[in-house]
Amino acid sequence: MTKTELNAFRRALLNRQEELGNGYGGREAFAVETSADELDRIQHAAARDYAMGTLERASNQLREVRSALDRVRTGQFGICLNCGAIINANRLAAAPWASFCIVCQQTADNADRETGTPVLMAA
Ligand SMILES: [Zn+2]
Repeated sequence: MTKTELNAFRRALLNRQEELGNGYGGREAFAVETSADELDRIQHAAARDYAMGTLERASNQLREVRSALDRVRTGQFGICLNCGAIINANRLAAAPWASFCIVCQQTADNADRETGTPVLMAA
């Protein structure tokens, strides 16, 4: 990977970090619900669950973005954390925060499905 390419990925990651850090505030959704109306309460609870799911995905991705930026600094960017293979350039272009090559990512996704834990954010 050239220095220019690496810089482009670094910029993309910094932009993404800013988006994730500033967005998804969702503070209203977490407000304590005081309405006595049951249906209203359920709808608000669903909206809150949805907001929390979004928030959790955003914070997971923020962690991935930060760890990718660390790898840019240490010269490990674009190398699969699991098997050490070079991550495909198209994959990195679509998801610069990807920490695994496509083979290891698919293995991880399958393992997630089998154990019933949430699937990693599609990268
Ligand atoms: Zn791998």
